[in-house]
Amino acid sequence: MSMMESPKTVGGFREVHGKPVYGVEVYPQTRCSHWRGPHDTIALRMKCCDRWMACFECHRECTDHPAEAWSIHERDQRAVLCGSCGETLTISEYLDASSCLHCGTRFNPGCADHYHLYFEMES
Ligand SMILES: [Zn+2]
Ligand SMILES: [Zn+2]
Ligand SMILES: [Zn+2]
Repeated sequence: MSMMESPKTVGGFREVHGKPVYGVEVYPQTRCSHWRGPHDTIALRMKCCDRWMACFECHRECTDHPAEAWSIHERDQRAVLCGSCGETLTISEYLDASSCLHCGTRFNPGCADHYHLYFEMES
């Protein structure tokens, strides 16, 4: 699929493999206006509003509430959507893998800097 495909308008959502992914300018593989590098292909289901979001900055811009991180006891939640194949991963599967378990698409290693925004991490 072409990365040049036009994005959805601000504040809306785009169906990615049948799931509504909210955010600012969401592209077909869940890239958004903030994160659109070749490896930025996952969306996160947010604990606070149970919505798939392209990223935490999209969440900040598109919702009226602070983002809430999944607790350490909720690692079995399927909160990660692979924008490449449309499969979902549990939080623990995602944190343990460097690429999608289903299609092998590599995740952005830089995402590790932001894990704490979505997932409660061990201290
Ligand atoms: Zn929320
Ligand atoms: Zn974003
Ligand atoms: Zn995949």
